[in-house]
Amino acid sequence: MNPKPSEHLLHALHAHQQQHRFVSDQAICDIASRLNLPRAQVEAVTEFYSFFHRNPRGRFDLLFSTCTSCGDLSLQQALCEKLGINAGETRGDGLVSIGEASCIGMCDHGASLLINGLPLHSLDSERIGKIAELIEAETALEAWPAEWFKIDDHIHRADLLLQEPLESGAALRVVEAEGADAALEKIRFSDLRGRGGAGFSTAQKWQFCREAEGESRYVICNADEGEPGTFKDRVLLTSYADAVFEGMALCARIINAKQGYIYLRGEYRYLLESLEAALATRREVGLLGSSILGIDGFDFDIAIVVGAGAYICGEESALIESLEEKCGNPRIRPPFPVTSGYMGKPTVVNNVETLAAAAGIVIHGERWFRGAGTWQSRGTKILSVSGDCAKPGIYEYPFGITIQDILNQCGAENTQAVQIGGPSGSLIGPSKFDHHIAFEDLATGGSFMIFDSSRDLLEIIHNFTNFFAHESCGFCTPCRVGTTLLKNGMDKVCSGHGTAHDLDELKATAALVSRRSHCGLGVTAPNPIRDGLKHFPELFEARLLHQEMEPEFNLDASLEEARQLTHRDDAEAHL
Ligand code: SF4
Repeated sequence: MNPKPSEHLLHALHAHQQQHRFVSDQAICDIASRLNLPRAQVEAVTEFYSFFHRNPRGRFDLLFSTCTSCGDLSLQQALCEKLGINAGETRGDGLVSIGEASCIGMCDHGASLLINGLPLHSLDSERIGKIAELIEAETALEAWPAEWFKIDDHIHRADLLLQEPLESGAALRVVEAEGADAALEKIRFSDLRGRGGAGFSTAQKWQFCREAEGESRYVICNADEGEPGTFKDRVLLTSYADAVFEGMALCARIINAKQGYIYLRGEYRYLLESLEAALATRREVGLLGSSILGIDGFDFDIAIVVGAGAYICGEESALIESLEEKCGNPRIRPPFPVTSGYMGKPTVVNNVETLAAAAGIVIHGERWFRGAGTWQSRGTKILSVSGDCAKPGIYEYPFGITIQDILNQCGAENTQAVQIGGPSGSLIGPSKFDHHIAFEDLATGGSFMIFDSSRDLLEIIHNFTNFFAHESCGFCTPCRVGTTLLKNGMDKVCSGHGTAHDLDELKATAALVSRRSHCGLGVTAPNPIRDGLKHFPELFEARLLHQEMEPEFNLDASLEEARQLTHRDDAEAHL
């Protein structure tokens, strides 16, 4: 049975935690019995997702982003000092708790945090002081300055998809006039490839699902963008949501699905109300629900399920597990979701941007899309530009744009390095700034993070390595243990205790983790270290204690006391 969104386990746990500030043993029993789920499953899910807590949180619950673009942990420390609390703890009076979260998708808004689930941005020491006062005065969030919570789109360059919001129902009307087969052919001839990063052919994915055996099929919109430095889906869901809904309905018409889901990342819960309202409007005007556009048999609806702080749920099979009310552990593939996805049924999982692009293609035709981009990468790519530049925000470019052109247009100066595609992507230096954003060159799901010469790049790599160790789901040993070994190795190098031997160890561990891990997270987790060692070896070498191996255990020093006790100082004293 499909869980109804209102009764979805993630929603039930969230609702309970909102009221009681944590999830108790009793709550787990109650929820398990109400939802008719095994208690062990509810407990495992509670432990798996970082936004659920087993100990009481404060009435003001703050999570500071640890991202290199929207995080600044010195501000966390400053607030902790003002409030007399340690990071990771709840204050004795229960008023406030302070913790950390991975990137919260506010990278164009400066240092940010989540307070009771709401993003609060543009943090500086002055704002931190005011936050401390408001918390101590127990001022309700509704009375805090509204502009602190106002989130802008920051669109600096619009092209095919962002020029103007799509007219509701436009794509569906074209499909009805021309037929579902013709719509699929348009998508095929457009050469649309998935915008999540992997670049699989969208038409092929839809075709496979359409032809798979099974009575019910599903469309899932993956709105769990958790890659640090990515926030383009936030903007699409804020100002172009209709294009995304339209893309889902279009896909449903082509593959014959009756139900769609949007899996929205927990950090974007604040968008839920407006998205639900937009869905309700579509139902009212006959663009969702039964007999869409008055067509007999065209029944399709969309429900939203909100995640709870697990980066791994951006992986499509982990996302499906999460939709099925389980821990977000990636599945073994094959079978692929197109034949056995949600509830074991044929399922299309597409990125937010892919669905919006598909709707545009059906309306404007394949040439509209093919005319932009490169031979192997048609159309445009929406980039989330953040870091050291004058104009962070959203830039939509035809594929093929060079890194240097982007840097020029966003006002970046003295750029030391750019991280393309987030920590799992590529870290490049100036010698590669003439390369292009394209599947055949530098592919990206959208993250474009800029680091100028004032940044300690080794600490950036350290941050990315910590991110993967934190986000590993723990399902397979190479990733669970390996990402922690990589983190420990970077801890040692960055603290100035590393040796050349440690760099060799980092390389060997990186190769093993990448080769042996079960899913993309583990495969790509060593990328920051590998790219760093390849393109910026001097940064690592400059931080080494010395070039020789430094054993963890000093045998001579340990035996010194024994030598003194036995009055021996000869060469064979060790034996
Ligand atoms: Fe989980 Fe990492 Fe293994 Fe992927 S590679 S299944 S994230 S432990």
